Amino acid sequence: MNVFLTFDIEVWCNGWDDLDRAFPGSFERYIFGHSTHGDYALPKTLAILNQHGLKGVFFVEPLFATRFGAKHLEIIVQLIRGAGHEIQLHLHPEWTDEAIEPIIENCATKRQHLSYYTLDEQTSLIAHGRKMLEAAGSGTISAFRSGNYAANRDTFEALRRNSILLDTSLNRCYDVSAPDLRREHDFNTPFVVQGVATFPVTILKDGFRNDRPAQVGACAFSEMRDGLLSAQAAGAQNFVIVSHNFEMLKPGSSAPDWIVVKRFDRLCAFLAQHPERFKVRGFSEDLRPSATEPSASAAPRATWLSTSQRYVEQLRRRLQSI
Ligand SMILES: [Zn+2]
Repeated sequence: MNVFLTFDIEVWCNGWDDLDRAFPGSFERYIFGHSTHGDYALPKTLAILNQHGLKGVFFVEPLFATRFGAKHLEIIVQLIRGAGHEIQLHLHPEWTDEAIEPIIENCATKRQHLSYYTLDEQTSLIAHGRKMLEAAGSGTISAFRSGNYAANRDTFEALRRNSILLDTSLNRCYDVSAPDLRREHDFNTPFVVQGVATFPVTILKDGFRNDRPAQVGACAFSEMRDGLLSAQAAGAQNFVIVSHNFEMLKPGSSAPDWIVVKRFDRLCAFLAQHPERFKVRGFSEDLRPSATEPSASAAPRATWLSTSQRYVEQLRRRLQSI
């Protein structure tokens, strides 16, 4: 089974009112996450992957740099490339109206989701983001993930026009994620739309039969392990895991969240121990959906005991913060 360890890399200033003053501290936290224990944002993510010999795919958001300058994007790209990992395109168009030089004509108001833009605007935004990343040294961009998983059919046409033929924008736990494609597709397995092959984020059924995205910060290690094993046993061919540059940090701080650090380290160790079951890989090679992949029957699931582990972790975290 292919396993994609994907990371969305982005910088936020905790509001839009005082961007220029907030940015230096935000960049430091979101990208480095410096603490007395080490740098638990991007540097530690890269270090843990490398320690286990695994390849990560980093979807980097470039539009913030239309406000603050390309040199910040170059720092991110160099960190990831220097550690030997793949860079692809992530896009948060809510930066569009904050750019110093307008990047599309209609940017008077803030529009959050890519699906709020016309086909031509989406095409331009994707082209602009790709150009910025490649100029920063990312290498050739071949895959895309939309911010907040927000997409529509036009997004795929815009990708096709940009010759980006691989995508992982869809997440059926989010209402903004391609509502116009849901009648035809269940978002459980990869499919082709407008000539673009899309690999949805994997959703697992937890021990209480609730849907949960395969996200490092959202699942206990035991749930992720159950999900991987059950999907592989049922014949699934692809499993897309998501994380972010700031997921190993405590909210609003640069201090490590040891529960998430341990989850991520255990997940990487588990994947590295089972190369016969799991092929951890990138999007840059030739990748197409298979017509024989089972859909609903292969839905990954976690046991009651594994999900209870997450509740124990959450309780421990709450007690620690008292
Ligand atoms: Zn994002």
